[in-house]
Amino acid sequence: MLCAGGGTPAGAVVSASYRLDGKTALVTGASRGLGRRFALTLARAGAKVALAARNTAELEAVAEKIEAFDGRAVPFAMDVTDAASVTATFDAAETDLGPISILINNAGIARRKWITDTEIDEFDAVMNTNLRGAWVAAREAGQRMIRHGDGGKIVNIASIMGFRVLPLLSVYSISKAAVIQMTKAMAIEWARYDIQVNAIAPGYIETDMNRAYFATDAGRAHVEAMPRQRLGAPEDLDGVMMMLVSDASRFITGTVITVDDGQTLKSV
Ligand code: NDP
Repeated sequence: MLCAGGGTPAGAVVSASYRLDGKTALVTGASRGLGRRFALTLARAGAKVALAARNTAELEAVAEKIEAFDGRAVPFAMDVTDAASVTATFDAAETDLGPISILINNAGIARRKWITDTEIDEFDAVMNTNLRGAWVAAREAGQRMIRHGDGGKIVNIASIMGFRVLPLLSVYSISKAAVIQMTKAMAIEWARYDIQVNAIAPGYIETDMNRAYFATDAGRAHVEAMPRQRLGAPEDLDGVMMMLVSDASRFITGTVITVDDGQTLKSV
């Protein structure tokens, strides 16, 4: 039997383990929304989870929820726009939980503004969080994974706005397009170290980031124009996220997986 990838037998997919026992993951933006859900899902799969964001009260609530099902999670105050805080968080997380082999690079912000109304510091805030912050966190993870010598999995949270653009979301879209290129650049440089770097490009999922907009008439019309006339929920990313951090993604790197309920099939 001919097998690509060094002879993995047929049937490997069904036996690929989705358990993460003994692994340590760090999730940026774990206090709310998608990041909170990623952290809960990783912990349920057995990973020890470092929860990183600025709001420590929200992080502690996530940690308590994880401890309630006997999972292991530790909150860390971290601002991705501050590289020193990223390094300090990785140091503390590795001391408490062991070497980080999974990074969910999720922290992000959006600003809805016309280009002509966007101030330079607003441009900087979005780019410093979504692009520079993601680059800083991924670089920190990559450096450590190379040092540990045991590979790793990095999942960058991009967006369908990395492929397309809507009025009022220009800077956000620019930042997410760059995250997609960053994913490919890191994947190619770190392939030799067995570090896989992939991205998820979610469609619209209801969180604090967009809840107010989708409660407006324009937001409701936007949803009605979607192919399946609904928004996603954070758990709709569970399957792809787990695939990308587990053995199931052994042969996947430098890829962007769209999870959008068909939203990019239509121009809305
Ligand atoms: P939320 O606004 O609900 O959560 C954003 C998270 O990012 C919070 O945990 C926040 O924590 C954290 N964060 C923001 N700035 C920083 C910072 N400087 N340092 C550390 N953490 C920070 O948004 P979502 O959950 O919806 O978004 C998560 C990611 O998913 C983002 O990258 C977003 O662009 C992306 N995405 C979201 C989609 C959606 O429809 N919801 C669609 C496509 C992509 P805190 O404020 O405590 O620091």
